[in-house]
Amino acid sequence: MAAKQASTRSENGKVRRVIVVGGGLAGLTTVIKLCEAGVPVDLFSLVPVKRSHSVCAQGGINASVNTKGEGDSPQVHLEETVYGGDFLANQPPVKGMADAAPGIVFLLDRMGVPFNRTPEGLLDFRRFGGTLFHRTAFAGATTGQQLLYALDEQVRRYETVDVEDERGIVVPGERMVRKFEFWDFLSVVLDDSGISRGIVAQDVKTMEIRAFPGDAVCLGTGGPGMVFGRSTNSVINTGTAAGSVYRQGACYANGEFIQVHPTAIPGADKLRLISESARGEGGRVWVPRDPKEKRPGRDVPEKERDYFLEAKYPGYGNLVPRDIASRELFLKCFHEKKGVYNTKSTKNENEVYLDLTHLPKEALRKKLAGILEIYEKFVGEDPYENPMRVFPAVHYSMGGLWVDFERASNGSLVMGSPRNHATNIPGLYAAGECEYQYHGANRLGANSLLSCIWGGMVAGPALATYRNNLDKSSYDFPQALFDKAAKREQDRYTDILKMDGDENPYRLHQDLAEEMLLHCTIERHNDQLDRVVAKIDEIEQRARKVGVTDKAGFANQGAQFIRHLGNMIVLARVIAQGARNRDESRGAHYKPAFKDRNDADFLRTTLAFHKEGQGGGTSTIHYARDFDYSIAGVPIHITDAVDIGLVKPRARKYEQAGAASAAATGDIKKEDKPAAKSPAE
Ligand SMILES: Cc1cc2nc3c(=O)[nH]c(=O)nc-3n(C[C@H](O)[C@H](O)[C@H](O)COP(=O)(O)OP(=O)(O)OC[C@H]3O[C@@H](n4cnc5c(N)ncnc54)[C@H](O)[C@@H]3O)c2cc1C
Repeated sequence: MAAKQASTRSENGKVRRVIVVGGGLAGLTTVIKLCEAGVPVDLFSLVPVKRSHSVCAQGGINASVNTKGEGDSPQVHLEETVYGGDFLANQPPVKGMADAAPGIVFLLDRMGVPFNRTPEGLLDFRRFGGTLFHRTAFAGATTGQQLLYALDEQVRRYETVDVEDERGIVVPGERMVRKFEFWDFLSVVLDDSGISRGIVAQDVKTMEIRAFPGDAVCLGTGGPGMVFGRSTNSVINTGTAAGSVYRQGACYANGEFIQVHPTAIPGADKLRLISESARGEGGRVWVPRDPKEKRPGRDVPEKERDYFLEAKYPGYGNLVPRDIASRELFLKCFHEKKGVYNTKSTKNENEVYLDLTHLPKEALRKKLAGILEIYEKFVGEDPYENPMRVFPAVHYSMGGLWVDFERASNGSLVMGSPRNHATNIPGLYAAGECEYQYHGANRLGANSLLSCIWGGMVAGPALATYRNNLDKSSYDFPQALFDKAAKREQDRYTDILKMDGDENPYRLHQDLAEEMLLHCTIERHNDQLDRVVAKIDEIEQRARKVGVTDKAGFANQGAQFIRHLGNMIVLARVIAQGARNRDESRGAHYKPAFKDRNDADFLRTTLAFHKEGQGGGTSTIHYARDFDYSIAGVPIHITDAVDIGLVKPRARKYEQAGAASAAATGDIKKEDKPAAKSPAE
């Protein structure tokens, strides 16, 4: 579809805006690309944009710039990403991302991101999991913060730029970006044809509920880590926005693929990540050979240590992909009972050592200070002198809202196609962790920041084309459409405030999270998954009998949490039921009873549609093998087949790869450079 020059104003004279929900990397990039295309934006965020969860990202962002002359390239990046994701990702979007990555890092560098540099002044790159190349650009161990702040600055600039009409005349009082912080997205406004015409949101301070027109809507609302209770995610990451539009008819894809990161530390509120960059810089994972060992880690002699990842994966060593590393840690700690002895406990704890003490302190300070401070602060031990104690934690969702793409003849994407990043609800788009597109069954470290920014760069032009080709602007729809949508949400909220049952919503969330954490993460068994799904049904019923913990008319987090809980419950079902259905092992989804990948039956995308429980019944899921949707009036037929046209699927064999580079564990104090090898070897 060729982009028309759309008018700035609707028929009735209103400035035609697009709505972006989410001020993380994906949302901010989408906003910037829309502004570059001359499209005014309303930006909504639950928290201040600069507190979006992207700010927590530590280790870096991937781009095959190949400054170290290892032979890395976008083609190898593409291959390693789809190989690491066990071939479940559609390959054209991944190719687009890998091709664009070097340009994205250079762009961020020009925006002022303080990336670490080599002594010669070049951008420095570190190793991350699932590759033998130095592909990860980084700003110490606070990369997410630096990227978020750089993009935030660009968006702030647009908050001061006047909207101009198509003749270049300033529209008085209208700026390119209007920002709505502390607003909770509730739902999209759907017209009679099921097309998104705007959103309903709630001001979480005044609790006012309002409908906002928007010619298109893009969600960049992040992941659903809170479904598992404690995770490495921020506590606002409930997935509520994705859950809400899923309930409105949006398809949710590959929900069962949840990444567990191998190295995190406990905390009462959340689990704090110790980034893969620690291993990228030479950190080594080990447990004492003697499971009864009681000496502190630093006193255990070298020959009495079991570097189990290095032993089993001589090429990748400590930097095998996360699904594999987490499973190995789980095996060591839970099945073999060889976890690190914890003096505060009478039994072995599920922890292993992550050791940096052999590396020069100065270099550690320069490259990893951000995460080492976190460890010292929350554990109370000096990680420069003591091996850190870590264990796996829920970290990332590969699954998310289903989004489309249009394949170009070169195997990449048709930029500007309104299909790119479109959900099956016309006019609703998604980018970033809330969608499923780039990582297949397992995400490689440092590919998420990239997919968020690239996703925004693709979604922005797609939204602009969609908006510019609309026959009728949302701003020309009768006000009654928006009033009705707002009233529906207001009524729901009023009903929540009246809830006076015995169930405590926070307790219910704990019950849900515990089930999900115990039975739906590293190892999955069908009998347990059946019980989890039954438990979710039970929790859904009990959630109808909660008592609201707060009836205040201002900043009422208790009532808000009840709404989020409802959306977490439906997402939990998508995750657990999807896991139950997939009788194979692929990437992060591992069933001991079905140890192999089964391409014949399962090299396909899980496409889930919500069916709300009627008359007090529990909700269910309809799984589709194909469906139809339309974009700007053009009908499109979708199937669950994965586009594997660029890299042919083959078995993952990280044990055998790159054995020549066994000694390579990172940059600091490293004599042997890793041999540059692609996973094809
Ligand atoms: C500790 C940690 C470290 C990580 N390190 C790395 C790394 O080094 N490299 C890498 O590639 N990846 C990393 N990741 C993953 C990466 O940080 C995330 O996947 C990514 O930042 C997600 O960005 P996003 O833009 O999709 O969403 P987010 O940054 O999560 O932003 C979501 C936005 O949506 C808004 N929002 C959410 N719900 C609502 C609602 N209901 N209404 C209104 N607004 C809403 C929020 O306010 C926020 O602005 C890390 C993850 C964690 C947990």
